Amino acid sequence: MTIHAQKSAPSLKVDRSACAGHGLCYGAAPDLVDSDDQGYPVVVAEPVPQELRDQLGALVEMCPERALSVEFPTSKG
Ligand code: SF4
Repeated sequence: MTIHAQKSAPSLKVDRSACAGHGLCYGAAPDLVDSDDQGYPVVVAEPVPQELRDQLGALVEMCPERALSVEFPTSKG
């Protein structure tokens, strides 16, 4: 069901302290990441919808600063 799928949807996280702001991520995946007015990434698909999830692995791997990660919700209750 849609509600369950949303609850278990992964989230893309940006470690702003590690990010160099050179824009590889939002250039490669504009449906997932946009840039703020200083050139730093802003996640725009939160949580990441099903149709965009196959981009996550490559996106995390492509960040040379290792500033991107994927979080999955913990199952509680
Ligand atoms: S690719 Fe990595 S270091 Fe570059 S802007 Fe995106 S998150 Fe920051």
